[in-house]
Amino acid sequence: MECQDYSLSRNTERDNLNLNPLQRGGVLPKEARKALYEFSDGYSVCDYCAGRLDQISKPQIHGFLDDLASFINVDHARTVHGAREGKFAVMHSLCKPGDTILIDGNAHYTTHIAAERCGLNMVEVPHTDHPEFKITPESYQEVLDNQLDRGGEISLVLLTHVDGNYGNLTDSSAVGKIIHKTGIPLLLNCAYSMGRMPIDAKALNADFVVGSGHKSMAASGPIGVLGMKDEWADLVLKKSLRHAVKEIEMLGCTSRGAPVATLMASLPYVGERVEKWDVEVQKTRDFVDKMEKIEGVKQLGVKPKEHDLVRFETPVFDRIAQDHPRRGFFLYEELKKKKIVGIKRGQTRWFKCSVYGFSEDQMNYIAESFKEIAGKYKNPS
Ligand SMILES: *Cc1c(COP(=O)(O)O)cnc(C)c1O
Repeated sequence: MECQDYSLSRNTERDNLNLNPLQRGGVLPKEARKALYEFSDGYSVCDYCAGRLDQISKPQIHGFLDDLASFINVDHARTVHGAREGKFAVMHSLCKPGDTILIDGNAHYTTHIAAERCGLNMVEVPHTDHPEFKITPESYQEVLDNQLDRGGEISLVLLTHVDGNYGNLTDSSAVGKIIHKTGIPLLLNCAYSMGRMPIDAKALNADFVVGSGHKSMAASGPIGVLGMKDEWADLVLKKSLRHAVKEIEMLGCTSRGAPVATLMASLPYVGERVEKWDVEVQKTRDFVDKMEKIEGVKQLGVKPKEHDLVRFETPVFDRIAQDHPRRGFFLYEELKKKKIVGIKRGQTRWFKCSVYGFSEDQMNYIAESFKEIAGKYKNPS
């Protein structure tokens, strides 16, 4: 067959500073790049499989899952294909079509889709107004009481640990405490937190946690992590009647090659980097301070920042775009000249960005670049 030219080359990360929050936590360390190469063939982790992916000992997947479980303090850990597949597996095993679940107003679209796929009704816990968009334990209490007073049953409660719109960190420990009084389990979505900051599922009062390898755990992916308390293992990790060792929700086996190999290779690195989370948060706060010195730039979400994802409202750039011959594309193009990428093309009213993993100097350079661009058009020469 004749194929088109797919142009499968990419130098974005090598040649530029990429501010896309989605990609900051998924950059591979060199150990993982090596593993990616070694395990690039299909089914490459299956050389020594005796029927259960999670029990393979060469490569040491079994030991890895134990390490992963202790890393996030859960009783059982499995890899899945992404945070979304983790949420789906929990919903699918705990709920039946027509059931109602509670979710937060900042939930990721994949929470909605997973619930839809399971035929569930979603009741939303609202966030506070602009500019904080905060999810509070009090509003969980209120919505929960409301539902239960009206005789509604709730099978599962979800909370987004750090949301992808504002980078707000929620108080899972407090929400879990409220929820547990009713006996309903809590699923904490840690796609933006697990692998960036330390996660202790038990301290966070979560029955389940999901993580995303390609988002926050320095893995090529697609791969996710599903962790749970022992009391839920029989249900969620139930085995097939026909294939006695295979777990049904995992469809027998999950990640079968490079994705899991890179996640494994990165775990020691990720284990170390979460210990330096304070440094990352401070760097983000310094970045926000510098950016807000530009007139017409304002951070949205909770202040001060508790996570590296920052959303800025940027009327200054929107005003420039109105008169610029390149319109909204000017910001992207000006940044690109400075070897900065990751802000969506054409977007000037607001944007999301992250300086996670960059050096102090790089962060300063990025903030200075935004300032220069704003200044250039204030006094056009
Ligand atoms: C990115 C993201 C996801 C999706 O993660 P996948 O691993 O790609 O499924 C889910 N939830 C949140 C909050 C996210 O930011």
